[in-house]
Amino acid sequence: MRESFLPFARPAISEEAIAAVADSLRSGWITTGPKAQAFEEEFAAYTGAPFALALNSATAGLHLAFLALGLGHGDEVITTPMTFVATVNTILWTGARPILVDIDRETLNIDTARLKAALTERTRAIVPVHFAGLPCDMDAVEAIAAERELAVVEDAAHALGARYKGRLIGSSKEKRHATVFSFHPTKNITTGEGGMLCTGDEEIAEKTALLRQHGMSKGAWKRYAVQGTPHYDVHFPGLKYNMLDIEAAIGRDQLRRLEGFNGRRREIAARYDAAFADLPGLILPRGASYDHLHSRHIYTPLVDTDALGFSRDAFMARLREFNIGTALHYQAVHLFSYYGKTFGWRRGDFPEAEHVSDRIVSLPLFPAMTDDDVSDVIETVRAVCLSGGR
Ligand SMILES: *Cc1c(COP(=O)(O)O)cnc(C)c1O
Repeated sequence: MRESFLPFARPAISEEAIAAVADSLRSGWITTGPKAQAFEEEFAAYTGAPFALALNSATAGLHLAFLALGLGHGDEVITTPMTFVATVNTILWTGARPILVDIDRETLNIDTARLKAALTERTRAIVPVHFAGLPCDMDAVEAIAAERELAVVEDAAHALGARYKGRLIGSSKEKRHATVFSFHPTKNITTGEGGMLCTGDEEIAEKTALLRQHGMSKGAWKRYAVQGTPHYDVHFPGLKYNMLDIEAAIGRDQLRRLEGFNGRRREIAARYDAAFADLPGLILPRGASYDHLHSRHIYTPLVDTDALGFSRDAFMARLREFNIGTALHYQAVHLFSYYGKTFGWRRGDFPEAEHVSDRIVSLPLFPAMTDDDVSDVIETVRAVCLSGGR
């Protein structure tokens, strides 16, 4: 058994990132400024997005995308129950109503075959979530969006570096289309906390730039820098969602390392796939039939509770006893009490998501894991599955 606890995720912060943060701290400019701007330019160059706007979280990015699209009371926005609650909460804070569509059990993404049945006169947007970093079937989503003139906001919190049919997630140049990334510490790159909104729609970009800083026509950098002027106007009551230079300093270094990070993530996932292929009790994450590149944000098998004779939670507890950390992504959104009370959602409404929600587990997966760490996970998971009920 391992001597030290292996967490399910851990950020990889380089000495260069630490030096860049120290540089910001010593420079006298620690909030949004030159480093945030450089991070946006580098992010746009990487993804191919015409506009990239740095924010203090993906939650902020989703909220601003929805506000920039003008969503509000009376509107309906379609998304998946297999996501982090940020996706649904940000829809709610615009006043719009979230409409859930069940998932496909192979990809764990929104089942595009069920999308049409959820459309009503009030539907305004679709919010696909690229679960674990496996891109949704975007051709299917975009075809429906085009036919019904709906906006598309991709929740790409898991999908930085992922490709759909050769195209990087975030590179879309469609109008009324935005893609949002997260830099929370467990995500593919981190800034501590942070997010990025990518879009090819100039109007969404302009509105996001205003709304992230109280609707003021100029950010602090432009007001207080040598060449700045002190005047500004307010066009709309915005929020405070800007990214600090301290955060962008970390993000710039992380972005340079992204391809290496994702390569290592894919390597570890491939070792898990091979080691667990014949293992009764674990149903491995599957791919999609269309061409894609997975960003492997999380590795999420289903615990076959019938075959094992114990629950997913018992499985997680046993791994914990052997110093292996796990996490739960996610409990299906509709099973949380607030949404049940508010929308009348209950168990039985989205059976595929419930099946997954009851069995899914995230095993350790992060770029700094050593080969020995991976072997420890493999040996422990195999032992726990083969031990049967105890
Ligand atoms: C992490 C995450 C978010 C929220 O990201 P933050 O940067 O923490 O606000 C939204 N959606 C999904 C699917 C996520 O995993």
